[in-house]
Amino acid sequence: MAPEWADALVREVCAEAGVASPVLRWRRALRQNSSGVTRRHERSVAVTAGHDPVDQRLTLLHELAHWLAAPARRHRGRVLHHDLNFYRVAFALYLQHGVPTAEALSREGARYPSSLRHARALFVVGADEAWGLRRIALRQRARLRGPRRVLVAEHTVRLVRDGRWTRCSVCGARVVGPVLARLRRRSGRHTLLSIG
Ligand SMILES: [Zn+2]
Ligand SMILES: [Zn+2]
Repeated sequence: MAPEWADALVREVCAEAGVASPVLRWRRALRQNSSGVTRRHERSVAVTAGHDPVDQRLTLLHELAHWLAAPARRHRGRVLHHDLNFYRVAFALYLQHGVPTAEALSREGARYPSSLRHARALFVVGADEAWGLRRIALRQRARLRGPRRVLVAEHTVRLVRDGRWTRCSVCGARVVGPVLARLRRRSGRHTLLSIG
C-alpha cells in the first residue's frame, strides 16, 4: 500500500497536467535509496521505497515525469529515456513539489550523469556549479588512477568459447558486443591494458 502523501502527489501532479493517474504500486526495501519503474502499457508506476524520505519523493516524481513526458524517442537504435524533454518535465516537478533543487541535481547527477548537461540547458539554478564540480571530480579520479599500463602487448585476437562468454585465448580478455561481432567477421588485433 502506498502512503497517503504518495497517492495524493500522484493525483495532484496528474490533475495539474490534465492526464489520467497511473496505478501506483509501492513496496518497501531495507536500504537508503528508492528506485522506480513506469510501465505505460500497464498504466502503472511502481516504486520500491528506501528509508530516505527525500529520495522517495524524488523517485516518485521522476517516475511521474516519465508518465507525463512524451514517450521516449529512439536514436541510433537506443531508446532515450532521460533526454532533454524528460528533464524539462522532471526538474519542473521537483521544483513545484518540494524537492530542493540542490538535492535533485546531486541525486539525478549521481544516477544519470547526463542529467547535469540537460539541467544546464534548462537553466536549472545551480546546474552549472554541479556540472563543474562533477568534471573536477572526474579529473581527480582519472589522476588518482594513473596512467594505464600495457598488460599484454598488441596481438592478433584468438576467439575461444568460455561457458556463455567468448574470450581471447592469448590475453584472456572477454570479448563482447559490437567488437565481438566485428572480430567474428574478420580477424583483428588488440592490446590488453590495465583497468588502472
Ligand atoms: Zn527514469
Ligand atoms: Zn587478446
